[in-house]
Amino acid sequence: MKFPLLATTLAGSLPKPAWLAEPEKLWAPWKLEGRALDEGKRDAVRLAVCMEEKAGIDILSEGEQTRRHFVNGYMEKLEGIDFKNLKTVHIRNRYDADVPRVVAPVSRPRPVHSEDAKFFRSLTTKPLKFTLPGPMTMVDTLYDEYYGSREKLAMAFAEILNQEALELCAAGIDVIQFDEPAFNVYFDEVREWGIAALERARRGVKCKTAVHICYGYGIEANNQWKKTLGDQWRQYENTFPLLAASSIDQVSLECANSHVPIELIGLLQGKDVLVGCIDVASDRVETPEDVARVIRAALKYVPQDRLFPCTNCGMVPLARDVAAGKLAALGAGAALVRKELVQGSVTA
Ligand code: ZN
Repeated sequence: MKFPLLATTLAGSLPKPAWLAEPEKLWAPWKLEGRALDEGKRDAVRLAVCMEEKAGIDILSEGEQTRRHFVNGYMEKLEGIDFKNLKTVHIRNRYDADVPRVVAPVSRPRPVHSEDAKFFRSLTTKPLKFTLPGPMTMVDTLYDEYYGSREKLAMAFAEILNQEALELCAAGIDVIQFDEPAFNVYFDEVREWGIAALERARRGVKCKTAVHICYGYGIEANNQWKKTLGDQWRQYENTFPLLAASSIDQVSLECANSHVPIELIGLLQGKDVLVGCIDVASDRVETPEDVARVIRAALKYVPQDRLFPCTNCGMVPLARDVAAGKLAALGAGAALVRKELVQGSVTA
């Protein structure tokens, strides 16, 4: 699939309609049940597609409207994990969370997102992205009582994710993205087995594969953590050279309003770079010029045919009108720079 110049996309999630789940909340409970919930999820996907098309987004996401959380929403469909008796653990080296326990070999009794992907595909002819949690981030959102090794558990998840990714691709999805915020925390593990697990998850997948690495949603625990990271956030320096040497096609990262030195994206030679031009930790809606400024800065380090303007992270905790405004700014900002490139007034 050939994408348009500066094709815009989003990291993944969008706010859910207030009739489907409680707004501005992570892992919000559903407000519907049974068939009404199934219908409601599909209607929410229709609305997400509508919002993105109106904003001029080129590679659409279904906004993760069919799951409550980007990691648990997938894991709760697997076997071998106890979601009833949770355990409090310190996750991402950052905050305590009540997480499910691995009590037996993990397995996927049936496809999780195949039907969602087919429905999503039926709504539009535009290129589509579907997001899945990455193996390391899954391991880091659990308490393991069975495998006794984060690597072994990650590889078991990678095999499950691989089946899922092959099916999503067959359903007509163009980009499959694995979300790995844990890659920004456990650098030794990324090197030792994280990249290998990711490559296992993408094995044989014909569509584009992406990895999203960020500094998290704009929630309090993350905001406090960011204050401890100093003036220059150089975490990406550890992982980008490894990803550049991997078989992953695209890397989605945080740029807007962050302390990430922009030149670090130059470490991703040969990869598509999904540059975060929208700050998801703020309710302020960017102007198209704000977005254009980030794209122009990134063009100094990434060739124009490899640059995809994107959001920093998922937008599920935001108010819906704020998310809509931010997407519109993303679409308009990319259009501004596209015009400049055609006129030759930006050299890249
Ligand atoms: Zn993220």
